Amino acid sequence: MTTRSASTSTLDHLLTEIEHRNPAQPEFLQAAHEVLETLAPVLAARPEYAEAGLVERLVEPERQVIFRVPWQDDRGRVHVNRGFRVEFNSALGPYKGGLRFHPSVDLGVIKFLGFEQIFKNALTGLGIGGGKGGSDFDPHGRSDAEVMRFCQSFMTELYRHIGEHTDVPAGDIGVGGREIGYLFGQYRRITNRWEAGVLTGKGAGWGGSLIRPEATGYGNVLFAAAMLRERGEDLEGQTAVVSGSGNVAIYTIEKLAALGANAVTCSDSSGYVVDEKGIDLGLLKQVKEVERGRVDSYAERRGSSARFVPGGRVWEVPADIALPSATQNELDENDAAALIRNGVKAVSEGANMPATPEAVHLLQRSGVAFGPGKAANAGGVAVSALEMAQNHARTSWTAARVEEELTRIMNDIHTTCHETAERYGAPGDYVTGANIAGFERVADAMLAQGVI
Ligand code: NDP
Repeated sequence: MTTRSASTSTLDHLLTEIEHRNPAQPEFLQAAHEVLETLAPVLAARPEYAEAGLVERLVEPERQVIFRVPWQDDRGRVHVNRGFRVEFNSALGPYKGGLRFHPSVDLGVIKFLGFEQIFKNALTGLGIGGGKGGSDFDPHGRSDAEVMRFCQSFMTELYRHIGEHTDVPAGDIGVGGREIGYLFGQYRRITNRWEAGVLTGKGAGWGGSLIRPEATGYGNVLFAAAMLRERGEDLEGQTAVVSGSGNVAIYTIEKLAALGANAVTCSDSSGYVVDEKGIDLGLLKQVKEVERGRVDSYAERRGSSARFVPGGRVWEVPADIALPSATQNELDENDAAALIRNGVKAVSEGANMPATPEAVHLLQRSGVAFGPGKAANAGGVAVSALEMAQNHARTSWTAARVEEELTRIMNDIHTTCHETAERYGAPGDYVTGANIAGFERVADAMLAQGVI
């Protein structure tokens, strides 16, 4: 047996073991498969990784916390949700990763997100470990007071597991500036500490970094631009389809416009809007950020250029580039086929794991540039790490300085993924490049720190 096939069969064996040990966690298994499938060449080249049991240790979180979150609604009714924090890997720095509040949250979802986060954070080069958390709480339709009581109850347990040197949560689906404010207030009240670096995504007036709200969307557009540049093209004049209408989608649309491209769609779980004039960002922000409304209300108020398609998927709208920015597995093989039929050149993941494995393989086989989330949406966590640096130094940087750093980091990530893919015989394959480059950084740190 050659070294290469030996490492492939070790990985196959490991995947079987992971499936056995983590039943009923399909998203985590999907994420683990996606990474492990690309690691054979690096394990063949660096046998010391296998000897140190690195992959076996990487797929097992260092710590998993599950807790009860009781809270009362405005009528005094008691609800009980489940809270999670998975502290996956701290070889490179304190655990870092967002909190998701969505009814679909369970341990498998948080583990998939935490696992992805390890490699994403390593790719930023900023000294942050990987973690993720959240709850099956659904903030839709809840009053501010209800959201506040939920956040206070959630933090009343979470506070004992986090800290600026231990674990630093941020936002994700259903957790934005409002929720981070309530969570930070309760942490401060319980601990009697002004520990700004315990959470990121804070308000700009009380320790938050400028450009943090924009960072994930802006970063993904910069990554897409870098992929196009590699092919001798740019964003100017390109039409884009964007899914979602939350934090990531909104700032993706904003940056596309700034770089001369035109986003013609947005969506939420009720359906999508197509606007032939291009999405009016002022109106979208008013509907989603101020009124916390639904996208059909955008279409109603926009006039004849826009229409709402209930239950539809944005991928049927013709475009040059696609930026999925809502949730996992929102772009399947049929969607990928539709994009390819319409001549798409690049797909860059703003969301985490939005494209199914079948969709990714089809896009890559068809020569479409594909930017995996752990590289393309790393701008958010990168600016979170810059927020931690500002908090530590008790200073705040200008928006221009943060954006310059973000641009540098996204270009570095692109170059790293591109060069790593070439080095391991997979030119143009950003999935392999991102997985191996992130893995090498974490694996080298774990190797140096012993079997722990
Ligand atoms: P938001 O809560 O701000 O927005 C989420 C958007 O996605 C909403 O439009 C929401 O619609 C839609 N959505 C969520 N779940 C579903 C679903 N099951 N089906 C259809 N639509 C859905 O979240 P973010 O914009 O922060 O996050 C979007 C994605 O980006 C997630 O995958 C997240 O993990 C990823 N990400 C976010 C980062 C950040 O900095 N915020 C950093 C890196 C990645 P509806 O309101 O109807 O549910």
